[in-house]
Amino acid sequence: MIHNAIIISLLISVLLVTGCQEQVEAPKTEVLEDSIRVDPLPEFKEELSNILELASVQSILSYIEENDSQTLADLIELNEIEAPPFKEELRAMAFREKLAEAGVDSVWIDEAGNVFSLRYGNSEKTVALAAHLDTVFPEGTDVKVKQRGDTLFAPGIVDNARGLAIILAVLRAMDQYDVETSSNILFIGNVGEEGIGDLRGVKHIFRDGGPQIDSFIAFDGNIIDIISRGLGSHRYRVTYQGSGGHSWGAFGLANPHHALGAAIRTFAVKADDYTKSGLKTSYNVGRIGGGTSVNSIPFESWMEVDMRSVSPENLNEIDTIFQRAVREGLEEQNKLLRYGQPLTVEVAMIGNRPSGSNSNESPLVQRALAVADKMGKRTILRTGSTDANIPISLGIPAVTIGEGVNGGGYHSLEEFFITKDGYKSVQETFLLLIVEAGINNPSTSTR
Ligand SMILES: [Zn+2]
Repeated sequence: MIHNAIIISLLISVLLVTGCQEQVEAPKTEVLEDSIRVDPLPEFKEELSNILELASVQSILSYIEENDSQTLADLIELNEIEAPPFKEELRAMAFREKLAEAGVDSVWIDEAGNVFSLRYGNSEKTVALAAHLDTVFPEGTDVKVKQRGDTLFAPGIVDNARGLAIILAVLRAMDQYDVETSSNILFIGNVGEEGIGDLRGVKHIFRDGGPQIDSFIAFDGNIIDIISRGLGSHRYRVTYQGSGGHSWGAFGLANPHHALGAAIRTFAVKADDYTKSGLKTSYNVGRIGGGTSVNSIPFESWMEVDMRSVSPENLNEIDTIFQRAVREGLEEQNKLLRYGQPLTVEVAMIGNRPSGSNSNESPLVQRALAVADKMGKRTILRTGSTDANIPISLGIPAVTIGEGVNGGGYHSLEEFFITKDGYKSVQETFLLLIVEAGINNPSTSTR
């Protein structure tokens, strides 16, 4: 008994010590979860069930499954047309042709290179279904598709040739059964989603005077679950410049590296303090460079910086802290110069993705959850940086869905797509689109 009591008291003290340590080490940041599981509300599950009871909808779901070989043929054909950043034209033209064949009321390409096709409904409302045309791969990358078993290998096959093929499959199925929707549907293949593209395609679509879009669904192959919150980012390249000279002979000149170092130091200290509380906000000096040799005062010093937050206010505030640190670095170094010209600094914004959130209860988000649930997928909402950032930041309901776990190796030469059950993503996209757009002729039959 005594023996047991000692063991128990030892265990308790271990637990107490562990508990204490956990308390000390617990992060002070109130982190906004990057993902959250949300059950769809009963009314949206019911809305979907009612749509699924329609014979025409059941026929379309079967049609999508039976015609999966056509979807895969489109996927391979479109993937094998290169679409490097800023050079999406050839793929855009092929996509426009396929949209026209699939049966739409009109099809066009705008001045930014975005492809549109419109299918009229019976109301003023317009729902967009979009997929980006561009890939991250430079010109000359081998984009030929290789098949092994049920898997297709090729750079860009899922992200995002898959999105384009899915749009065509949804459109073909709707055309086959003459579905009349209450909203107009705008099918879009947009440019410039990846990296340096900086969402330029959707930024152009949602400009003042752009086409009217009341809700926006993006299909982006590499996305898992449902993106309903836009992670915003600001990216800068900062360059300090001076005359430069010999480290001994020209000693006393202002030194751009010293200014850059001071700026990074000030920024890191203040940004650390700022991001310790409130919604998660991040900052990173990712690259620095400049200078010619160890015994030369550099004529140039540069850095590239990335800041992110799901909150637009936080993003602006960390940006202000950054800009102030850059100016202070300049002023500090210019005060120290003993002769010669003061340094200058140039701050160039190289990336700007706005942030924002849909409410978890908004109808589009709820519909996406209800459809995912019906398809046997997880009902998880995530924060991400996708084409949906732009409409979300403007208060327009928008979500991004994707292929989930049917692929991998995104943005690498080893990217792959597992074709087995691939038709389910087409069905999921069709269902979400049709619940959001509303169906006008529920008793429609094949033509
Ligand atoms: Zn993508």
